[in-house]
Amino acid sequence: MEYVLKTMGVGKNYHSFKALENLSLKVPKGAIYGFVGKNGAGKTTLLRIICGLQQPTYGEYILYGANSTDKEIVKARRRLGAVVETPSIYLEMTAKENLKQQYKILGLPSYHGLESILTMVGLSDTGKKKAKNFSLGMRQRLGIAISLVGDPDFLILDEPTNGLDPQGIIEIRELILKLKREYQITVLISSHILGELSKFATHYGFIDKGQLVKEISKEELDEICGKYTRIEVNDMKAATFVLDELGVEYRIISDTIVDVFAKLNISRLSLQLAKVDCEMLSLHEQEESLESYYMSLVGGETNE
Ligand code: ADP
Repeated sequence: MEYVLKTMGVGKNYHSFKALENLSLKVPKGAIYGFVGKNGAGKTTLLRIICGLQQPTYGEYILYGANSTDKEIVKARRRLGAVVETPSIYLEMTAKENLKQQYKILGLPSYHGLESILTMVGLSDTGKKKAKNFSLGMRQRLGIAISLVGDPDFLILDEPTNGLDPQGIIEIRELILKLKREYQITVLISSHILGELSKFATHYGFIDKGQLVKEISKEELDEICGKYTRIEVNDMKAATFVLDELGVEYRIISDTIVDVFAKLNISRLSLQLAKVDCEMLSLHEQEESLESYYMSLVGGETNE
């Protein structure tokens, strides 16, 4: 697998507060990578570090083969487009003027591609309308348009659907899918709402309190969130010992009940349990929802 970005044990401290802790993630080429975590989990901090807006306290990352500690990283970042926190838009300018401004900032020799970017984000018919009169969704799409100037291969979007109505959320989702389809762009997109990403992300990284708690592909997630097995046992300690040995994912529900998120060979499991004097009292197949799996990873309430 080819990765456009690999972070290796990245950490960020604000005095004694650990905003990011030893965070390692990998974004495969062509992925729509959903970076999911509650507000305050550390998403923006990591994205800012990748964009070079902040330095990590420790750790490093590789972007398009360039190490963050090498000079080459500046060149690698030219392949990056980003909208981190609020998009940098000139409110007194039209969509087209905003884009022209970005062409100038990047020192591009012509406005080649400008019209197709406007069309791509669905803002080609906004004419003389100034950005200050745009809806939030239009501003967000203008922000993405600006990040597309310079023809990036990799787009970093920080909570692009934050505050948008359902229609706005759909428009952003469709835009990202179009970018992947037509430009083969890799996208790293953060959100505190898993449900918003679940319809189109190909990979996920779940972050909680500055730590990556799970990195998983859509296929793996679908498998987990399909069926799982609820097992009732008379000795939870012995049961978890066996489950650990089998290397399967599980969640303890009570002193006697455990949910196992993997295809199980039932006879092998019973045999292993018997070996440690643990009795299986019952076994049922159940359906896991995406949201409850997420909750099992990050715990507590989601902040939708
Ligand atoms: P997210 O994007 O997941 O909502 P952030 O990366 O913005 O989270 O913030 C992670 C944590 O770091 C939060 O608790 C936030 O308050 C803290 N934080 C962010 N920037 C600073 C800063 N400049 N100084 C101190 N704490 C900060």
